[in-house]
Amino acid sequence: ERIISEEANFEDLSLEQHLRPHSFNQYIGQDKVKENLKIFIEAAKMRQETLDHVLLYGPPGLGKTTLAAIIAAEMGGNLRTTSGPAIERPGDLAAILTAIEPGDVLFIDEVHRLPRSIEEVLYPAMEDFCLDIVIGKGPSARSIRLDLPPFTLVGATTRAGALSAPLRDRFGVLSRLEYYTPEQLKEIVLRTAAILDSEIDSRAAEEIASRSRGTPRIANRLLRRVRDFAQVKADGIISHSLTNEALDLLQVDRLGLDHIDHKLLKGIIEKFKGGPVGLETIAASIGEEAGTIEDVYEPYLLQIGFLQRTPRGRIVTPLVYEHFHMEVPKK
Ligand code: ATP
Repeated sequence: ERIISEEANFEDLSLEQHLRPHSFNQYIGQDKVKENLKIFIEAAKMRQETLDHVLLYGPPGLGKTTLAAIIAAEMGGNLRTTSGPAIERPGDLAAILTAIEPGDVLFIDEVHRLPRSIEEVLYPAMEDFCLDIVIGKGPSARSIRLDLPPFTLVGATTRAGALSAPLRDRFGVLSRLEYYTPEQLKEIVLRTAAILDSEIDSRAAEEIASRSRGTPRIANRLLRRVRDFAQVKADGIISHSLTNEALDLLQVDRLGLDHIDHKLLKGIIEKFKGGPVGLETIAASIGEEAGTIEDVYEPYLLQIGFLQRTPRGRIVTPLVYEHFHMEVPKK
């Protein structure tokens, strides 16, 4: 389990509810997404209609579930939560849809993982608020149509490209969540520290922010670990020097890279002269799966410009040499 993993672990899940912002005002950053949603919500309310279906996409831990809850609160409906892999049979979806009340928000996380047979049940529900159910089997089977109350579907996905075109087309609002800036993450860290009743100085919050890979979930997790250090070593006060010490011990470097990132980047430098080198070759050389490198390790390294994908393979950029205080080789 990497401390800088974007995915939620058990402890994150048990605390996130408590740390979640409940309104647009408390939700830091993602200004464009927020501005658009506010207008669409306002307009829907003026027309006394439900909000169009919303697709939120972007890496894990950036606040999709939180936004869905805020949308439900702003629209005055209940939030009902499920996920693509949890809905296995059409009956599962029918049970969820028939329990919906007017104006509710149905949040489906990992919506790209819905089975195709379920998607087909979802289309009429999204378009016309109705549900076609087949009763009986064989020649005596017949289809009946049930009316559903109007609702808003909020779908979340880390991979918008993996969504089928017919499903994607049924979302009226498509919003992409971006990585957060260090300034925004600092604000999030200060907000979380206040909720946890922890005293933290401004530079300590900046340090945590800059090591959090643009992701609020990671910022909150690092804050909790540093807070443990502060409690044991410094009467609970989170200072800058203590934060540095704690994060260095946790092996999270100045940019939020850990030993796995180091192994990957140094492997390319030391074994392949910085690349280009194919993904499979890198995978074999460091003993990791190609799919894991591509889906889990690479996105952030690509995002900060440390890695580049070229037709001939991956290359590390001069920024990596600078980060490791190494000389850029002359080619
Ligand atoms: P996943 O897709 O992995 O479930 P997610 O994108 O739905 O992740 P959330 O669960 O909404 O992410 O957010 C993770 C944590 O980060 C929450 O506990 C929340 O407190 C915090 N968080 C996310 N976005 C913000 C924000 N804009 N302002 C303050 N805190 C935030």
